Amino acid sequence: MKVVALAGGVGAGKFLRGLVRVVPPQHVTVVVNTGDDLTLHGLRICPDLDSVTYWLAELADRRRGWGRVGDSFRALEELRWLGGEAWFSLGDLDLATHLTRTQWLQQGRTLSEVTARLCSAFGVTARVLPMTDDVVTTRIDAVDEEGHHLDLHFQEYWVGRRARDGVKGIRYDGAGQARPAAGVAEAVTAADVVVFCPSNPVVSIRPILEVAGIARAIRERRGPAVGVSPIIAGAPVAGMADRLMPATGLEVSAFGAASAYRGLLTCWVIDERDAALAPRIERDLEMRVAVTDTLMTDDEAAERVARVALDLAAG
Ligand code: GDP
Ligand code: CA
Repeated sequence: MKVVALAGGVGAGKFLRGLVRVVPPQHVTVVVNTGDDLTLHGLRICPDLDSVTYWLAELADRRRGWGRVGDSFRALEELRWLGGEAWFSLGDLDLATHLTRTQWLQQGRTLSEVTARLCSAFGVTARVLPMTDDVVTTRIDAVDEEGHHLDLHFQEYWVGRRARDGVKGIRYDGAGQARPAAGVAEAVTAADVVVFCPSNPVVSIRPILEVAGIARAIRERRGPAVGVSPIIAGAPVAGMADRLMPATGLEVSAFGAASAYRGLLTCWVIDERDAALAPRIERDLEMRVAVTDTLMTDDEAAERVARVALDLAAG
């Protein structure tokens, strides 16, 4: 069975650990959001690609959710001490990834090629593809405490200003002109199942769907497409989805997250705490629903969630 998974960062990473225990990793293609990518210190940083790679390589820091387990932050401390730009945390080991990626990109390789090489170095056997090799940037239209309008890079909003601003809207600059990375549309078309990981609907999955042709490829295939809700009992497990979803008219619930994928998904997995929402999702969104414990506290839990999702899709 061939599976294509659309992925953001931590929610996707946890889930993918389970998915590759159910499906051989060689049969899994992960299409990753690059809307969060940024250039800092001259380095190209791709937070979601790195998260997915580290999780699949068993090198992720599960407690923190991002970065490498056992990493240190000596370079960052020195940067801060020198008066350099230090608002975005970069671990010492993590820096090696960004240095290598940046050099390879400067030599003329595409982000897909660089990602494949990094994955191979980290021993990741699933195929990890950026959604596009073009630059797409998620930007937040915000209003600060004094009522000033701000146009922020997603990372400035989330990491730099710690989500303190009111959110008016979300844009995906460049998505309309971006082309899917080589192999993305083909993998979607050839997939037996497409899975939307339990990632943030508006800043992780939506940017992927905004790249011209990806949503169409999903819509035009005949096989099932299943998603796992990142929202449990009306709140994200972690992150800022509760502040961003309302700005795009989505209710912060397992129903609201599913409604972002109306017409794309045939199946939706929700948490047992949200069991009461199942009939409404089935009726209003025409998705088949499975109810289970979706809290992925370890790989065994993630494996169970992945199995429920694939069984639902097959059923
Ligand atoms: P980010 O880019 O690192 O924020 O990564 P994602 O978009 O992939 O993941 C963030 C989402 O993952 C949040 O909306 C969380 O609610 C969700 N998430 C994290 N852990 C879990 C979990 O154990 N179960 C479920 N269902 N969702 C989770
Ligand atoms: Ca992200």
